[in-house]
Amino acid sequence: MQIALDIAPRSPHPVNKIAAVLFGSDQNGEVFSAVRTNHWPNPIYEHIGIDTKIGNSSGTVHAETACLLSAPHAAQDASICITDPFCPNCAKNMAEAGIKNIYIDQDGFDKDFFKRRSGSFDSMSMQICERAGINVYALNMFAEEMNPIYEAPEDYIPVEDSPIEKEPIENANDGVLHDIVEAATQKHKRRKFAIALVYGPDGKKFALTARAHAVIGYSMQREDEALDLLTPIGKYSFIQEPVNRLLMHLSRHGYKLYEDYLFCSQVPTSREQVNIVGAEIKRITIGDIQKCRDPHGLKAMQQLKEAGILDYS
Ligand SMILES: [Zn+2]
Repeated sequence: MQIALDIAPRSPHPVNKIAAVLFGSDQNGEVFSAVRTNHWPNPIYEHIGIDTKIGNSSGTVHAETACLLSAPHAAQDASICITDPFCPNCAKNMAEAGIKNIYIDQDGFDKDFFKRRSGSFDSMSMQICERAGINVYALNMFAEEMNPIYEAPEDYIPVEDSPIEKEPIENANDGVLHDIVEAATQKHKRRKFAIALVYGPDGKKFALTARAHAVIGYSMQREDEALDLLTPIGKYSFIQEPVNRLLMHLSRHGYKLYEDYLFCSQVPTSREQVNIVGAEIKRITIGDIQKCRDPHGLKAMQQLKEAGILDYS
């Protein structure tokens, strides 16, 4: 936490300076970490600037999500220290990436920035952690105290009724992507889905397919709950878009994307596109380039394409 507190002032954000430190152990038991502030990914900072929204999304990537996008090893069961209480989008990302423990600096709860949005922390961020089985603690650095906000039962396993499909592949090339896209188009019909060709820490290659779905821990098979999950609360929702799901699945397992082999059946949302740039991905293949969940995503595509930041094919 001290590292996070020390680097937060370096955030380029003029007002809300937030930092996070992700730490865990790799497959050999060696400790790894990733340290990030909230920031504008370089291409957005340089070519579009900090005053322009990307579609309807801020051009920034939050510190917690930035840590996950840059995690050097599998983030599953890792922990994260954050200078401030986290937003619902980062909660969803940490849930999908398999984070085990979240530590928040106690002082973060006293900032005006948090007071303005504390509602979404209680009603969404914490609910998402409970459903995903993530332990959340407040750290009082001055008193050297750690206070649990939520502790998951030892044997808790979150429900997952639309897990990411994973199939082994021999090679990553245009032909393989084409075949996987064809099969997924048949299977998922007109629903939005995304595909990534990836390799794991052991060199094994996979095609991953994700559909838009409520974040891990929430079932959409329960009719009483499905409708609530589909209804946005303010600017947030419990649904995790497929590209974000894939990016966090990569983080969870330490998979790396084969450059050029990210596909989405329609234009991703503004937030997904900003995260793609945050993950340093430069190209995406789109199924239906006219189609998007909302017009903002189409605008984001135009902006990123014109600035030469992301290549759409
Ligand atoms: Zn956030």
